[in-house]
Amino acid sequence: MTFQAECQKCFGLCCTALSFERGSQFGHDKPAGQPCLYLADDFRCRIHARREELGYDGCEAFDCLGAGQRASARFADENWRGDAGVARRLHGYFSLLMRLQEMRQALTTAAELDLGTGLHGERQVLLTRIAALAESGDEEAGEAAAMALADAKAFLRRLAPELTQ
Ligand code: SF4
Repeated sequence: MTFQAECQKCFGLCCTALSFERGSQFGHDKPAGQPCLYLADDFRCRIHARREELGYDGCEAFDCLGAGQRASARFADENWRGDAGVARRLHGYFSLLMRLQEMRQALTTAAELDLGTGLHGERQVLLTRIAALAESGDEEAGEAAAMALADAKAFLRRLAPELTQ
């Protein structure tokens, strides 16, 4: 379940925290931090079965890679519904976890590359570092996460420049 989104354990964060513009992938403008018009109180999508038909292909394609349930678990006991400051922290943490999970997946996938032992060792060290940050539940880990993500990006750039362009 490392990268699988578990929407039933999430507070509808992709439908709330992210911004969308009306276009071919999404049917209306939505600012970051505002719930989508179609998000129900139980965090289900009220047009789920008709999203494609109604012009919400982007929702079908989006994958948080498991960031949603991790951020939701961290804030389960906090008053994010009633306190805008807490909600902003939750949304910020969700964004951080999305970046960590994306990099974690890239480093995991890189295990399949034909690398020498040294590079695989380096990859594993970075993967362990990123995974620990993603699982820590520490929303104050932004600085450490930024450093780890920069190191991992530099590593991937060395492997294949086109991966990070
Ligand atoms: S249309 Fe449904 S899945 Fe897409 S953002 Fe709105 S509530 Fe979420």
